[in-house]
Amino acid sequence: MNPHKYDYPIWHPFSQMKTVEDLPRIVKAQGPWLETAEGQRIFDAISSWWVNIHGHSHPHIAERVHAQMLQLEHVIFAGFTHDPAIELCRRLGAYLPKSLTKYFFSDNGSTAVEVALKMAIQYLRRDDQQTPIRVIALEGAYHGDTFGAMAAGERSVFTEPWEDLLFDVVHIPAPTDENLDAALDALERALDRNAIFIYEPLVQGAAGMKMHPATNLDRLLKFAKAHGAILIADEVMTGFFRTGTWFASNSLAIEPDLLCLSKGLTGGALPMALTVCAQHLYDAFLDERFERGFLHGHSFTGNPIGCAAALASLDLLESDETQNRIHTIAHFFEASTAILSDSFALKNARCCGCIVAADVAQPATGYLHPLRDKLYTMALQKNILLRPLGNVLYLLPPYCVTEDLLSSTVEAMVDIAEACVSDALNLTV
Ligand code: PLP
Repeated sequence: MNPHKYDYPIWHPFSQMKTVEDLPRIVKAQGPWLETAEGQRIFDAISSWWVNIHGHSHPHIAERVHAQMLQLEHVIFAGFTHDPAIELCRRLGAYLPKSLTKYFFSDNGSTAVEVALKMAIQYLRRDDQQTPIRVIALEGAYHGDTFGAMAAGERSVFTEPWEDLLFDVVHIPAPTDENLDAALDALERALDRNAIFIYEPLVQGAAGMKMHPATNLDRLLKFAKAHGAILIADEVMTGFFRTGTWFASNSLAIEPDLLCLSKGLTGGALPMALTVCAQHLYDAFLDERFERGFLHGHSFTGNPIGCAAALASLDLLESDETQNRIHTIAHFFEASTAILSDSFALKNARCCGCIVAADVAQPATGYLHPLRDKLYTMALQKNILLRPLGNVLYLLPPYCVTEDLLSSTVEAMVDIAEACVSDALNLTV
């Protein structure tokens, strides 16, 4: 579809519309496959921006959503409640870190982060509005595109136009084995006042699927907690078995005070988010005075259809079938790092649960790496939706994927990387 036609009405996200060329029009999606109007079948190897976890148009989710629409499609969530929301929070409680007991609904990953930041700030300022606050995040952090979430993230070309309007954040090195000491030093320096530490546990997605060991992150969290920092685990991407367990925080000894969920929460079918909060934080907002409550909300907060989709997704996640598939994918990805490492065109092959990644061997890195568009186009020509993060190729598939499909996709990743690197070498000879 040509987006430059005068009657084409849409402005697309993360796009320079001047250079956007043809936009494939998707007319159908089933399981791991997207289908275009021209009949091309494309493997959605990145779960459509990491949201889709059971495959597209899953009948169980569709049935529960349909039934919910006929029963109660929406109700204002201030002053009213409903069973799908209550049931969802009760069921999630079985899998989340035990200290998290209260659930605040919103609409997407960015709003889940906004809510967490606003709660943490209000908590720290409950007795003194002037209390100075330090927000600490990891280098390369990405927490979303609204103002607070953007402020917490790494400064880059994506934040440049608004930079002077963002609040200050100290970014410390991510706790890889090489950087752990530097990260601890930087953290210690940053903890000179009341602090909020926000982190993507185990895998920093948008940074380029950067991974760090749980034991290292635990060292940072333990230190921050001992100094009274509020911990916010941003599990918008890592939740729901992406890192191999229900939540990445399940692999950590130190529990967060707040945890953000979205993306896979509804199985990727509908936009919804949760910010889950520790009891002691919640208790601090209880007061006779209205204004001491948490005065935040969105029109679609707690939407019952979203809750129904999330409950259906939980049914699927709890099934032996999905659990077996998750184990198979994690096992396959572990083995496939050897295949990726064998290629002259790839380096730093790595995996964590149901995520595998490798860097195309090119000197410059970063999201705007010129190879990115080339890799994307070549993959699409092979009927695979990859969305390289600069020169980083990764797979983050829906759990319904077969081992055969994964196997041919890993082969394709190697072919694409080798073709690009060979091309680049020829160009420079
Ligand atoms: N937090 C993390 C870790 C993310 O990866 C993302 C999106 O990729 C977000 C927050 C923002 O989520 P959304 O795009 O739903 O606003």
